[in-house]
Amino acid sequence: MKAEIIAVGTEILLGQITNTNATFLSEQLASLGIDVYFHAVVGDNQQRLEAMLSIADTRSDIIVLCGGLGPTEDDLTKEAVANHVGENLVEDAPAMEQVLQYHVVSQRPMAENNRKQGMIIEHGIPMPNPAGLAVGCFYQSADKTYILLPGPPAELKAMFLQETAPLLQSHFPVSEMLTSRVMRFIGIGESQLVTDIADILNEQTNPTVAPYAKTSEVTLRLTAKSENGTTAAVLLDEVEERIMRRVGQYFYGYGEENTIENEVVSLLQAHQRSVTCAESLTAGLCQSTLAKVPGVSNVFKGGFVTYSAETKQQFLGIPAELIAEYGTVSPECAEAMAVYARNKLKTDYALAFTGVAGPDELEGQPAGTVWIGIAGPSGSYARRMIASRDREYIRISAVKYGLNFLRQ
Ligand code: ATP
Ligand code: MG
Repeated sequence: MKAEIIAVGTEILLGQITNTNATFLSEQLASLGIDVYFHAVVGDNQQRLEAMLSIADTRSDIIVLCGGLGPTEDDLTKEAVANHVGENLVEDAPAMEQVLQYHVVSQRPMAENNRKQGMIIEHGIPMPNPAGLAVGCFYQSADKTYILLPGPPAELKAMFLQETAPLLQSHFPVSEMLTSRVMRFIGIGESQLVTDIADILNEQTNPTVAPYAKTSEVTLRLTAKSENGTTAAVLLDEVEERIMRRVGQYFYGYGEENTIENEVVSLLQAHQRSVTCAESLTAGLCQSTLAKVPGVSNVFKGGFVTYSAETKQQFLGIPAELIAEYGTVSPECAEAMAVYARNKLKTDYALAFTGVAGPDELEGQPAGTVWIGIAGPSGSYARRMIASRDREYIRISAVKYGLNFLRQ
């Protein structure tokens, strides 16, 4: 099955919004065993959309459209697809009832246009909208399937997961279930990782191994199907073991949605250990990153933002002489920040960040130089991280590297 995603919206063409719907849909379709061969974007123009549909027909079996199901003049997707397949638009009674009820309950006047939100392509299967008003539609012609989803990401996601995925699974069952596993790495760049496992990547057929670069980390998606009596899980274990032998020192966890802060907080919780942070260039970013994890209050009570040399002395008590001798961008300062922060709050661990976020150099050190201090029950030390690119990237990288050092 070859699928294609057509995002409809002039705002996407103008660069005003990012086509995140296509990202979500590609990922979901892949997990259903459906290969996506094309992403297309077309503006809110019926003629050009119909031209796009004619092209899609020549190359794809499943055509997923998103956007343009709303009530306004520029919402033309239903009209375009109906015209393209030679069907009418008809009312879907439950969806129309939902539209009417919404206007009664919210005491809003209902414009004639709003009726569009309750219409589907005749002979199509309606897909109720769990998060909005516009009904979606799953329409099959002799040899093509058209799937119409709303533009707002919350509506699209809810409708896809609740309505579209089950329809796809029943209409296009995957003969053999694919099993995937995502491995996450910090401290190694994508190009280095790909080089280190080049032979594994080259010889792959089952399992397949796909690298993805994220901000300051890299993931590998391993996908397998059972073969000659060997289960997919065993095949995944085998390739994972080979990967770990090469780059295992950078591996920190599994899962598409996983994060280094989740891993660190789980470890601290499991061992009943607490942590604090003293942050210079990251200015609280590590603490707010930790605070994203539900339940972090068991292990994190508070910390310090010490952006200047003075606040490093005032808040943490670092001696002025130490800073005068080594400077603030130094392993000595990073380690002292961690040690003093740990002593102040009597935590098990402390993590400290000091460095140059850029764009200008500081104390003769180039932008991207970061010293990370770690203090724990068995002592303290500092490690250097060097990152390039902009301030934001350097600060995020510092936090991820620091949390990863703590995990180790
Ligand atoms: P509405 O009923 O809100 O008009 P719609 O189905 O007609 O929904 P659009 O009008 O095309 O959808 O888009 C509505 C909003 O959804 C856009 O302003 C944008 O914020 C978001 N959106 C649309 N398409 C995408 C996309 N491909 N990726 C991410 N967001 C999108
Ligand atoms: Mg709209």
